[in-house]
Amino acid sequence: MSARSATPPTAADLLASPPATPTPSARAALLRAVLTQAGLEYYRADAPSLSDAAYDRLYRELEALEADDPSLRTPDSPTQRVGVAVQSALGEHLHLVRMMSLDNAMNDDEVAKWEGSLVRLVGERVRTSGYSVELKIDGAAISLTYADGVLVRGATRGDGTTGEDVTANVRTIRDVPLRLAGTGHPPLMEIRGEVYLRFDDFEQLNAQRTAHGEPPFVNPRNSAAGSLRQLDTRITASRPLRFFGYQAVLPDGTTPARSQWALLEQLRGWGIPVAPLARQCHTLGEIAEWAHDIEFTQRATLGFAIDGGVIKADDVALQLEAGVRNDRTPRWAIARKFAPDIATTVLEKIMVSVGRTGALTPYAVLRPVEVGGATVTYATLHNFEQVKAKDLREGDVVQVVRAGDVIPRVLGPDPSKRDGSQHAWRFPEVCPSCATPVELDAGGILRFCPNIGCPGRQLEGIVHFASRKAMDIEGLSYERIQQLLHAGLIATAADLYDLSDDQLAALDRFAETSARNLVQAIAASKAQPLSRLLFALGIRHVGETAARLLARQFGTMPALRAATVADINAIHGIGEAIAQSVVDFFASDTGAALVDALAAHGVCMDEPNAVVAEGPFTGKTIVLTGTLPTLSRGEATALIERLGGKVTSSVSKKTDLVVAGADAGSKLEKATQLGVAVIDEAELLARAGAAA
Ligand code: NAD
Repeated sequence: MSARSATPPTAADLLASPPATPTPSARAALLRAVLTQAGLEYYRADAPSLSDAAYDRLYRELEALEADDPSLRTPDSPTQRVGVAVQSALGEHLHLVRMMSLDNAMNDDEVAKWEGSLVRLVGERVRTSGYSVELKIDGAAISLTYADGVLVRGATRGDGTTGEDVTANVRTIRDVPLRLAGTGHPPLMEIRGEVYLRFDDFEQLNAQRTAHGEPPFVNPRNSAAGSLRQLDTRITASRPLRFFGYQAVLPDGTTPARSQWALLEQLRGWGIPVAPLARQCHTLGEIAEWAHDIEFTQRATLGFAIDGGVIKADDVALQLEAGVRNDRTPRWAIARKFAPDIATTVLEKIMVSVGRTGALTPYAVLRPVEVGGATVTYATLHNFEQVKAKDLREGDVVQVVRAGDVIPRVLGPDPSKRDGSQHAWRFPEVCPSCATPVELDAGGILRFCPNIGCPGRQLEGIVHFASRKAMDIEGLSYERIQQLLHAGLIATAADLYDLSDDQLAALDRFAETSARNLVQAIAASKAQPLSRLLFALGIRHVGETAARLLARQFGTMPALRAATVADINAIHGIGEAIAQSVVDFFASDTGAALVDALAAHGVCMDEPNAVVAEGPFTGKTIVLTGTLPTLSRGEATALIERLGGKVTSSVSKKTDLVVAGADAGSKLEKATQLGVAVIDEAELLARAGAAA
C-alpha cells in the first residue's frame, strides 16, 4: 500500500486552500473519503501516506462542518468511529469493554475549554480530586486479557469493539508479564496500553533489514503496529517491541482502583511497565507547565516517540459520571498534542563536511520541514556506515526526528516512495575541500582528509582555536574567519596575531570600531594559560581535561615539547593514544611551525598553576583528614600537587605525611599507630610558603 494507491480526491487537493468544492455537504463527503482511505492505510496497512498533522487538520475541518450542520454527520464518518474494522487473517477478539480513542487539544487554551466543559458536567469536584497527566506514547494500542492474573489474550484495538487476536505475538514481548506479580488479581480484567519501539532499537532493526536486503521501516509507530500484527510469531519475536500500560478495566466497565493515579501504582505492582514522568496536577497552570516541560525539555531524551500528553480526571467515580461522547471518546480525558517530533521530507542531497582533524562527516540537506517546533534543513548522518545501514539515497522521502539532541537525525527512508531515480550514495573519493584522496582510519569506519593544509580543515581549526573554551577570542565568528581566509589575510591561527586595524577595516562588513575591538580581543588572548592554548591547538585526542593535565604537569610548552611518549603517558589520566598524538603533533612540520609562530608572537607558553618541578612535597604521598580551618579539600589538594606531592585517600605505611584538621577520625588514629608524621594546616602553609 502506498500513497499512489489513493483514489481521487487526494489529500493534497483537500489541504489546498481555499477549498475547491462548492458546498459544505460535498466538502464533507470528500473529507470523509480521504480520511477513511488514510485510516485504512494507517491502521490496516501500517503505511500512512498522510502526516498525522495533515490528518488531524482535515479531521477537525470535518468535525467543524458536522457541528455546523449535524445532518452532515453520517454513521460512517471517521468522526463517529474508532480506528477501522478488523480485516485480516488473524482471529478476532471481542473486547470486554469498548476501547476508545481520545479527543485532542492542540494547545493550553483548548485544554482549558475541555476542563471548563468537564467542570460544567461534574462540578468543581473534578478540580479538587485533580488530574493524572501522562505521556501519550506514539505506538499501537493493545488490550491484554488476564484471567486470575494469567495472560490469556492479547488484541489490537481494531474498531474499538472488535480487535485482532495477537495473543501469540504479545507473548513474545518481554515487557508483557505472562503472569502478573503480586496477589489479589481480579478474575477477569483487560489491561490496556501501548506497544512501541525505542528509537535506537528501531534504527538497529532497520540496519539489520538493509544488511539482509530488506526494505527499512518508515517509523517506529508503524513498525511497532506492523510487527504486532504478523502472522508468523517468529517475526514478532525478532522485533524489539516494548510495552507501557496505562489502563485496566473490569467486565462491568469499572476500574480496579479508585483513581487513575492509584491504578498506575497498581499496574506497577503487578509488574506492568508504566511510562515515566506522569504527574498529579490540580490546576490548569500545573498541567500547562508539565506539558511544556515534557514537550520542550524531556521529550528530547526519552528515547521513544510520544505525540503528546494525556490528561485524565483522576477520580474514577467522576470518570464514570462524565461518561463518553459519541461512543468514541471519554469526556474525562483529553490528548494534549505536541508539535510532531518526527516529520517526513525529502533528502535532497548528501554532502560531506571537513572537521579540524580532517574527519569527513556526511550530512543531509533536506527540503526544509517543521520538526519539534523548528525548521530543519540539515541533519547529521554520522558516518558512511550509517548511510549504508539506513540505505539512504539522494531524492529519498525520509523521516526526520528531533530527539536526544537538538541536532536532528534522519531516521530512515520510505522505500515505497522511490521512483527509480534514487541511487545508492557513494562516499566521495577526494576531500570536498582540497581534493586530496580520502583515507580510511585504522578502525575502517571513519574517513578523513590527510592534508594538514586543507582549507576546510584550516577553517575548522581556526574556529576551534578562537572558540570560547579555547583562546576565547570575542567577535571572531565563523563567518569572520571564513572572510579572513578568503581575503588571504590568514592561513593559520598564528596569522591572527599579525592582523592590523587597517587591514580589517578595509574588509566588507567591518567598521573601524569592530576592527579595533577584534584586534584587541586577539591580542588579549595571548595571555591565556598554556592549558587553553594546548586545547586550542586541536591536537588529536587532546580535549579540555587532557590539556589541563598536560599543562599542570609540564608547566611550559618547551617542557612538554621535550617530553617522550613514556613521560607523557606517566601522567595519571593520560593514555598512550593521547601521549602518542602529542608527540606526533610536535614532530610534524605544521605543528612545530604553528607553535613556533605563536611563541614568536608572544603568546603565553606557561601554566600559572603548574606543578613545581622540585617542591617541598616532591615524591611525598600525603593524606588529608578532618576539616581544615581555612582551606577546602580541593584547595589543599591543589596546593600539595602543585608543590610536587600526591594526595591519596587512605593511610598506609607508604604515607609520608598526614594533614589533620578538626574532627579527624580513623585516619589520624592509623597514622599515629603507624608512626606517620602528622601536621596541621598552619604547618602545611608554612612549608608551602617556605617554597614560594
Ligand atoms: P489518538 O492516537 O489520537 O489517541 C488515542 C490513543 O492514544 C489511545 O487509543 C491509546 O492507544 C493512545 N495512548 C497513548 N498513551 C496513552 C495514555 N497514557 N493514556 C491513554 N491513551 C494513550 O487516537 P487514535 O484514534 O488512535 O488515532 C487518531 C490519530 O491517529 C490522529 O489524530 C492521527 O494523528 C493519527 N492518524 C493518522 C492517520 C494518517 O494518515 N497519518 C490516519 C489515521 C489516524
